[in-house]
Amino acid sequence: MSEFIPVAAPALIGNEKTYVMECLESSWISSNGKYIELFEKGFADFLGLKYAISCCNGTVALHLALLAMGVGQDDEVIVPSLTYVSSANAVLYCGAKPVFVDSDDRTWNLNPDLLEALITDRTRGIIVVHLYGHPVDMDPVLALARKHDLFVIEDAAEAHGAEYKGRKVGTMGDIATFSFYGNKIISTGEGGMVCTQDEELAARVRQLKGQGQDPKRRFWFPMVGYNYRMTNIEAAIGLGQLEKIDWHIARRREVASWYRAGLHEFLQVEFSPEMPWARSVFWLSSIVLKDGIDRDRVMNSMLQKGVETRPFFYPMHSLPVYQSSTEGKQFPVADRLARQGMNLPSSALLTQPQVDYVIDTLRQALAGPI
Ligand SMILES: *Cc1c(COP(=O)(O)O)cnc(C)c1O
Repeated sequence: MSEFIPVAAPALIGNEKTYVMECLESSWISSNGKYIELFEKGFADFLGLKYAISCCNGTVALHLALLAMGVGQDDEVIVPSLTYVSSANAVLYCGAKPVFVDSDDRTWNLNPDLLEALITDRTRGIIVVHLYGHPVDMDPVLALARKHDLFVIEDAAEAHGAEYKGRKVGTMGDIATFSFYGNKIISTGEGGMVCTQDEELAARVRQLKGQGQDPKRRFWFPMVGYNYRMTNIEAAIGLGQLEKIDWHIARRREVASWYRAGLHEFLQVEFSPEMPWARSVFWLSSIVLKDGIDRDRVMNSMLQKGVETRPFFYPMHSLPVYQSSTEGKQFPVADRLARQGMNLPSSALLTQPQVDYVIDTLRQALAGPI
């Protein structure tokens, strides 16, 4: 096989093109139009929630969620260190401080046992991140939040349709955010969604994303808001994707099952977890290499054979912006995952021979000098 196998590629296999053409032909190309409403309604129904509010990406979805919860200057919000940078940056946008928590070896998500020790007078809430499509162990998080009167924001950017004990992620906290970036479970190109069951929070998010305009009085802006709107064209793509979301999830799970079976005998690798209480959507099929194996050398060797992989995210506590606030603190699990972890090709379009080929290149890389 000489083709290039990328980590991610959107699968536009439904009505995306028809709906986009309809936007162009009707000239409804901006942020009003029927696809916005259909996509929001459809996404809320998919989650079984009352409110889904579209916005222009998953990062601003987090910003809107934090603003709606009233986060401001000098507040603290607990965030996993091992996440995509948006989860932490959105806290800074509000003038607040992210306080980082280490990961759990078993789930690769935040470790709920470490949360309570991080709570101070200033702690307002917790952002949980369902990393790589696997749900966070929510019950202990929700119990702790109740005990200390904290909010819970679910960053579900990577986990559309994943389930925790039969409950969909995005339905358990106070408010949840999703991303529809090109490589996510479903995509709108760029796009995001804020979801909640709370009418008041939903109204605040709507107002904030539309320049702060009073919903009852046009051009009256009682607060400073933002233009964080999604376009009708993006929503048209999103609706086409959403109609096929079960297919997208089933394909990701099938790809993961091929990897799991094929990697079973590899003693040097740990494959993406799926806890007994979890239904992961395997946004990315991932592996963590045993300590001592040079991950970057493995990635390079696979790339030379046409297989793209990605390293895990750098933990937030290692980034220049956040280093000073985390000095002296230890994040051994996040550090190990970040050092030894890599994401394998995981697109919904992958075939079994392609997955077998990826596994082959990994086998060869591990057999080489390490
Ligand atoms: C992708 C992602 C985001 C941000 O979404 P964008 O649409 O790219 O802004 C936020 N959090 C996590 C965990 C993500 O993976």
